[in-house]
Amino acid sequence: MSGLIRVVLHINFHTRDDVPWITQEREAELVPFVAKLLQGLDCKLIQGGAASSHIHLLLEMSPTLSIQELVRRIKGASSHWIHRRWPELKEEGWQNGYAVHSVHPDGWDTVARYIQRQREHHGDARVQRADEAVDALQRPDEAVDSSPPPSNLAIFDGSGGVFLRWE
Ligand SMILES: [Zn+2]
Repeated sequence: MSGLIRVVLHINFHTRDDVPWITQEREAELVPFVAKLLQGLDCKLIQGGAASSHIHLLLEMSPTLSIQELVRRIKGASSHWIHRRWPELKEEGWQNGYAVHSVHPDGWDTVARYIQRQREHHGDARVQRADEAVDALQRPDEAVDSSPPPSNLAIFDGSGGVFLRWE
């Protein structure tokens, strides 16, 4: 990993059809799996967390990867692993798209805390994808209102198109 270029991203994607299969027990295995997977891609997971139907990853990305390639690998490898680890989930998977925003170094802690508190934050409610992304962007932590907002956000719908974007 380059010491000169640091790209930190907050990536968020949902389960297919928002099926709530990410129990706390599964999250406890899934997040370490993703951390190890990222290590193998020369990336570093800073904080991972999930609620029942989506996952958040705050990570430092290898500058040699594209975001699209990175997300494709995370979803592909984790989906494969999930189906082997929990055969009862073989019909389940990830949504096609994802949301991503870049995070300023001063905002890492705030985003990490937001991710840690996912279940508390969402309760059992299913979360609308666009709402969640906006929520993460604008209110990473209600308790901290002095943090700088993340600088941009894009949501990719899986067909290569962007349907919501701030810059
Ligand atoms: Zn969330």
